[in-house]
Amino acid sequence: DIALYSAKGDGRGRYHLFVDEMDENVRDQRVLEMDLRFALTSETGLGLVYQPIYDTHSGRMAGAETLVRWDHPTRGKLSPALFIGLAEDRGLIDQLGMWVLTAACRFAQGSNLPWVAVNVSPLQFRDEKFADRVFGVLEQTGLAARRLELEITEGLLLQNSPLVQATLNRLRARGIRVALDDFGTGYSSISYLRTYGVDKLKIDQSFTAALATDQEIQGIVRSIIELGRAMHMQVTAEGVETAEQQRILAAMGCDQLQGYLLSKPVSAEQLVRSLAGKAAPAPADDIRRATA
Ligand code: C2E
Ligand code: MG
Ligand code: MG
Ligand code: MG
Repeated sequence: DIALYSAKGDGRGRYHLFVDEMDENVRDQRVLEMDLRFALTSETGLGLVYQPIYDTHSGRMAGAETLVRWDHPTRGKLSPALFIGLAEDRGLIDQLGMWVLTAACRFAQGSNLPWVAVNVSPLQFRDEKFADRVFGVLEQTGLAARRLELEITEGLLLQNSPLVQATLNRLRARGIRVALDDFGTGYSSISYLRTYGVDKLKIDQSFTAALATDQEIQGIVRSIIELGRAMHMQVTAEGVETAEQQRILAAMGCDQLQGYLLSKPVSAEQLVRSLAGKAAPAPADDIRRATA
């Protein structure tokens, strides 16, 4: 086939181009992996931002979610979407996850932020020592367990693993809250929620986005909020971008709101300033270096 096309002049060339591009991609990922290893060991380039989460009724900041950032030396600011998966594929997620957790707990302990939420990859739960490592970070930083929330995804519950269940039980028994992130996009059933027990549901931003225009979505969101109430779970809506969405969620009794309308992710310094009531979080550049 290739010979046939190459006889026409450009087929073979195109084939080679494709293979080269694949090689380039593999090389690219390998370079990025090494860069991430370096960033982790040297603690350079990685940073954290915090997105405030507000109590719907009082309007006060209830807590904040930690979001990792990587300012790559040559590629610039990379979205977590570009490197969390890489870290997971290359066995770096435990190290990255512990770095994020430690820095977030240290920050929260030194601030008057009521609580801090940290995203946890499902792969981190493969480590049977995960709960102990989390407890170790609390001891090391002095943060009270009640001030830490871990965000997991529905896929983790679907694994139906005794180890996952034991780990979640141990974390929650210590007083750490567990939130189910991006709720509604996975396949978790009510029976999973009952088996595992979580403290909070975070309604995925795709639902919030359609809230004002889609009656069916409105019904679904109302049901999620009612489910939360029935099962004694708090409910947070993610991705609140308009006053209309905020109004609907408040009317439905959603406990907490998070989104660009209220605040973008901000640096630790900005968060502390807005907690002190000196300034509203500035929705400027949300990519900043971590402050150790
Ligand atoms: P997530 O945990 O669901 O975090 C919410 C994402 O939505 C964040 O994107 C946040 O910046 C963005 N967001 C917040 N409000 C709005 C809004 O009003 N509109 C829109 N369109 N987006 C909004 P980000 O920071 O790019 O993070 C993307 C994902 O990367 C996170 O989704 C989380 O799954 C993952 N991630 C981030 N940091 C970490 C981490 O430290 N560890 C792990 N394992 N995953 C992380
Ligand atoms: Mg999250
Ligand atoms: Mg989310
Ligand atoms: Mg999300």
